[in-house]
Amino acid sequence: MTDWIAAAAALTPETRLFIDGEFRPAADDATFPTFAPRDGTEIARVSSAGEADVDAAVTAAHRAFTSGIWARADRRERQRVLFRLADLMEEHLDELALLESIDSGHPISDARNVDVPNAIRVFRWYAEAIDKVSDQVAPAPEQALALVTREALGVIGAVVPWNYPLIITAWKAAPALATGNSVVLKPAENTSLSALKLAALAAAAGVPAGVFNVVPGLGPVAGQALGRHSLVDKITFTGSPKVGLGFLGYAAESNGKLVALELGGKSPQVVLADAPDLDAAASAIAWGIFYNAGQTCHGGSRLIVEESIHDELLTRVLAHASAFNIGDPLLADTQIGTIASATQLERVLSYVELARRDPSVTVYGGEVLQPDGLAGYYLAPTVFDGVDNSSPLGQEEIFGPALSVSTARSAAEAIALANDSEYGLAASIWTSDLATAHRAARELRAGTVWVNSYDVADVITPFGGFKRSGSGRDRSMHALDAYTALKTTWIDLGGGTLSSHAESE
Ligand code: NAP
Ligand code: MG
Repeated sequence: MTDWIAAAAALTPETRLFIDGEFRPAADDATFPTFAPRDGTEIARVSSAGEADVDAAVTAAHRAFTSGIWARADRRERQRVLFRLADLMEEHLDELALLESIDSGHPISDARNVDVPNAIRVFRWYAEAIDKVSDQVAPAPEQALALVTREALGVIGAVVPWNYPLIITAWKAAPALATGNSVVLKPAENTSLSALKLAALAAAAGVPAGVFNVVPGLGPVAGQALGRHSLVDKITFTGSPKVGLGFLGYAAESNGKLVALELGGKSPQVVLADAPDLDAAASAIAWGIFYNAGQTCHGGSRLIVEESIHDELLTRVLAHASAFNIGDPLLADTQIGTIASATQLERVLSYVELARRDPSVTVYGGEVLQPDGLAGYYLAPTVFDGVDNSSPLGQEEIFGPALSVSTARSAAEAIALANDSEYGLAASIWTSDLATAHRAARELRAGTVWVNSYDVADVITPFGGFKRSGSGRDRSMHALDAYTALKTTWIDLGGGTLSSHAESE
């Protein structure tokens, strides 16, 4: 397929809620508009779940869970269904990519070559994993058998943001479903369309009714209703710290459900004077912040560079930034698309204004663009040089194509500045010295540290943050633990005195 603009015009996306195995409008027929950030036009109106709809979805999920149709199905049956889902996603790759691209502003080339294939890989990976893990037998006394097993938690509420809708959904839904849970997914208001397509494919793959539900809607309504529902056993959330911490409140005020949070970041890219290859560093730094127009939770939004190489590195970063092909996400050669919404563009521009008013900061880029006359949300890659790390430009998450540059006089000062943040999602260190690299990797308070690279990632490793960046970890085999609870079973084998005081004997 090459004419993505024509293909987008011919799309008729599913816009209804998916509850208990069927698409249906909201109980009160409410809808909200979803826009195409490439040109600001309305794509469709999407059903807006209210409290009654969320209750119906959670009740269906709970019923499906307690019936055992999925949770107690043979692992190989769940595996077969999830493989089939991955196959169907592959068959519908173009359509999924197109929905993701028009709804979020991701370049179609990324949606088709990165986002959807990654989501497919995640479903396959967890399907493959579930019959490779065994439970434990504890070293109990001779006359007993003590089993430590893992069981699905029950109903998982997944609340996701708009920056990588399908990938983040897969990180949560795939391990949750693979381990036998039921899922109720609340996509972001800006980007519900790929999730609804996923629901249709899941049903076609044989995921039983009630096991996977999708309830698009407004955060404070549908998101809150899910967070407060007493039949939800765990919330897995990715988004902003403010909303994420709100889910802890919902949990405390309802049933004390588990809450795993993946929040934002202000991730530092630290470049020391002995960096092995400044041009490689400059390229990784530019991709590390400008990929997906900077709307990446682990985007490397702070560059902390040793003073002696500041000018040379900055020149190279600016050269890479100005070489990106920024344009209509539906053109195959576009490398960087749009900001996801008018609101988010405003937010990023408010930081450009702040930087322009600061006499110690030099601003490069920062212009709103209109490629091919499109009235979408395009912003030139932006660099703020001379940022005081303790100022808002050094501390606050901008979540757009904006890099804040600060200098340090030594490696120790660079690492101290890197750690001087409320966040701790990711960090990088560029150096030729092995010991410095290892020491820095230990000292950087971040869930992921890259040495002489940035943004290398795969489902094989965990992802999540320290400090205000959150508590949960998506991806890797550890995610299987995140969607299961431990159960202890003591069996008296007879022929002895197995008492509850065994430990103190
Ligand atoms: P957000 O406003 O926190 O929204 C995240 C989700 O929560 C959306 O589905 C949203 O629904 C919902 N929500 C909003 N208000 C709510 C409320 N009062 N109660 C319950 N749910 C509510 O975040 P965003 O603006 O979509 O995404 C950008 C943020 O996410 C950035 O700060 C970014 O750093 C962070 N992020 C972090 C990671 C990570 O892995 N650490 C990954 C991606 C993004 P609506 O869409 O309807 O508002
Ligand atoms: Mg949209």
